[in-house]
Amino acid sequence: MSEERLRRVRDRVRSFPDFPEPGVLFRDISPLLKDPVAFGALIDLLEDHVRASFPQIDFIAGLDSRGFLIGPPLAQRLGIGFVPVRKKGKLPGPTESVTYNLEYGKAELEIQSDAVEPGQKVVIVDDLLATGGTMRAACELLRRLEAEILECLVVIELKALKGSEKLSSIPFHALLQYD
Ligand code: AMP
Repeated sequence: MSEERLRRVRDRVRSFPDFPEPGVLFRDISPLLKDPVAFGALIDLLEDHVRASFPQIDFIAGLDSRGFLIGPPLAQRLGIGFVPVRKKGKLPGPTESVTYNLEYGKAELEIQSDAVEPGQKVVIVDDLLATGGTMRAACELLRRLEAEILECLVVIELKALKGSEKLSSIPFHALLQYD
């Protein structure tokens, strides 16, 4: 059953060589979002995983921008709220921010200072883990708010880039792995 769902999800991920720059093999989830059966299977798999792993959870936090496509339907299924972690300059009011390294240059992520209370339990969601820099920055933001990070959860892990090592002791789970 879950093998069949995983197959449906995997079948709807496309690969584009040399996008957005030479040498990058871009994994495109647009066909997955377009197919309601496959997208439903994805949310089913994520829901089953979170329910089986964590008896208590307060929020799903999602990363700008494809984490915003996956996080809210998952949070709804779980009957909990969703918290956005955004690129710099998009969130009003007091925020925490963290600068992190990209392959070329730097980027900044932000979270609203009142997004979670100290001790609240959060699972962080994104579409894909590559170098792990973005996810590690999101963990830093949630740590500053004194959230308890239960897990970093992604649809796709690019194993060769060893991004999960950047998350050190934080639990990590990927539904699909690519070399
Ligand atoms: P990183 O910080 O290197 O782990 O990059 C993760 C973020 O960049 C995720 O939010 C992904 O959406 C995006 N990303 C990085 N590499 C790829 C790729 N090969 N295909 C699709 N998205 C990617």
